[in-house]
Amino acid sequence: MLDLAQHPHRRYNLLNGSWVLVSPHRTQRPWQGAIDKTPPPPEIAYDPNCYLCPGNARAGGVRNPAYSSTFVFDNDFAALLPATPPETDDRQGLLIAIGEPGICRVACFSPRHDLTIARMSVPDIALVVNLWASQYTELGSNPKIGHVQIFENRGEMMGASNPHPHCQIWSSRSVPTEVASEQREQAAWRAAHDSCLLCDYLALELQSGDRLVCENESFVALVPFWAVWPFEILLLSKRHLSAIDELDAAVRVALADILKRITTRYDNVFEAPFPYTMGFHQRPTDGAPHPEWHFHAHYFPPLLRSATIRKYMVGFEMLGMPQRDITAESAAARLRDMSESHYLDS
Ligand SMILES: [Zn+2]
Ligand SMILES: [Zn+2]
Ligand SMILES: [Zn+2]
Repeated sequence: MLDLAQHPHRRYNLLNGSWVLVSPHRTQRPWQGAIDKTPPPPEIAYDPNCYLCPGNARAGGVRNPAYSSTFVFDNDFAALLPATPPETDDRQGLLIAIGEPGICRVACFSPRHDLTIARMSVPDIALVVNLWASQYTELGSNPKIGHVQIFENRGEMMGASNPHPHCQIWSSRSVPTEVASEQREQAAWRAAHDSCLLCDYLALELQSGDRLVCENESFVALVPFWAVWPFEILLLSKRHLSAIDELDAAVRVALADILKRITTRYDNVFEAPFPYTMGFHQRPTDGAPHPEWHFHAHYFPPLLRSATIRKYMVGFEMLGMPQRDITAESAAARLRDMSESHYLDS
């Protein structure tokens, strides 16, 4: 009998159609790898050298206003540019390139240099949710923009160049690869079952409870069955909503609440700032109705066994498929046990 807590096995990611190798028997092996240094959290509310703090000059020479809430601006070194011609360059079907117009923005969560989502108040996080919704609507209504990706890189380990709490919003003409994979799988499930893939998956997870982390009236945070990153979380809306613009005021507050609770649990795991990439997946803004899309967020944190030991995606993972040692169930149990009172506040 296959025992998912003991035997090496593959798990199917029904959201993007890939597989992950799970090796639960390896969790006892000794570690002799690199020890990363994590910097302590910034303790100053304002940093005169931070290009995101209110009133400071950015690298491009523009000066930030003395903002007192959220603040959004076009990225000074944008990866996408709006005037790019969307033309195809195809050489004999072997060398194919397509011009990709887009708009990239940066959004500061608050004027405070030191307050992460875990330590902001729920009403202040709700202002960030409002900003995300208005940016999604504004950028998405541009006929050149077919998709809006909102994401946060938190911590130096994830390549965040500035500790000031902020996110990025990259909007593009085309639907990016990972989003297109999830769209394909959700559409296929809908065609085959006449129901929503993530609504069906959430019902099963609520029934079992094995992978749940926390929930409120509108959202559920869980470690997905097919998680690749050690403490990966999938955040699902309980109702079938396809994008952030469909969230009413009460649901926006509920989203703010669950974001704070997830990040507080993360910081409490190793009593240290928990690095991650997080972002929302939702209905593309390409004009199609997309009833298959179920609004959700992913958290991909790299930490494994301590605040300094991270997971690497190398070797078999680059050449074969992703692999993990601790099971999704044991990671979920650990996150479920965490306090929702932040270690720095107690
Ligand atoms: Zn700052
Ligand atoms: Zn759904
Ligand atoms: Zn997704």
